[in-house]
Amino acid sequence: MRAGSAPGNGRRVIVTALVLGVVILVGGFLLGHLAGSRSRAGLGDRPEGGPKISRDRVAPLARLALPPLPPQPQPITGPDRPPLPVERGGPFGSRLTTGTPEVALTFDDGPDEVWTPQVLALLRDYGVQATFCMIGSKAAKYPQLVRDVVADGHTLCNHSWSHDVWLGLRDEETVLADLRRTNEALTRAAPSARISYYRQPGGNWSPVVVAAARRLGMTALHWRIDPHDWQLGPSHRIAADVTSQATPGAIVLLHDGGGDRGRTLSALRTILANLITRFHLAPLPPGMEEPRPSGTGWFGRPGQ
Ligand SMILES: [Zn+2]
Repeated sequence: MRAGSAPGNGRRVIVTALVLGVVILVGGFLLGHLAGSRSRAGLGDRPEGGPKISRDRVAPLARLALPPLPPQPQPITGPDRPPLPVERGGPFGSRLTTGTPEVALTFDDGPDEVWTPQVLALLRDYGVQATFCMIGSKAAKYPQLVRDVVADGHTLCNHSWSHDVWLGLRDEETVLADLRRTNEALTRAAPSARISYYRQPGGNWSPVVVAAARRLGMTALHWRIDPHDWQLGPSHRIAADVTSQATPGAIVLLHDGGGDRGRTLSALRTILANLITRFHLAPLPPGMEEPRPSGTGWFGRPGQ
């Protein structure tokens, strides 16, 4: 009787479905409960069957057991502008590196009416700030360029009045007068700027010139990487020298004045594109003290 058996079959199907549904619900609940117990035990590292300890009690203890964080890199720029760690690995105790993981690009022999604006524009494109070691007589001639450099957040550095590569051989008073005159030209152009660095032309340091810089509150700023961009090498060689030698803390010597800087500019594009993917590029901290062009009786703080 097919017609009579159909309702009976339907009831059996309904009952079977209901039973299966209950089984699935109960099974799911039990499995979920067990899984939850395991994960909670894992969170608090509570052994099964051990005393019940709330997560609020366990979490602080677990934090105490964590290893200490590795030392964080000390920024060399920022609103508080912390001084750099002391580092005097260069000639006669001059600074060779930033002393931090950050890399510092430095540009010497400006300001130059042709090349300095182009270097500034390129640095702006990459959002990079650097340090400009300026010649005093040029700063006096192009004060607006000094202001442009400062306005872009770069740090100023004294590079002597007339790029005297033998200044280190002269007597202390002559050296002091040269450095003061340059600082006065820089601060006259950009009164808000701090002059906390001196770089000796040619890198021809002497104890007298390092001491004179310190007496005027300036760090003697040497460099780690010199790609000789002022010579006649091709731009790809300048770029390769910098990118291949760059290490954390490196101070890089480049030029925005003193001749045709077209190759430097071309190399700088490659250098910036490469280094910004590997390092944080930062200007040297300009220092927190008031500029003291007279410099009498004041010694710069270590590391600045
Ligand atoms: Zn120079």
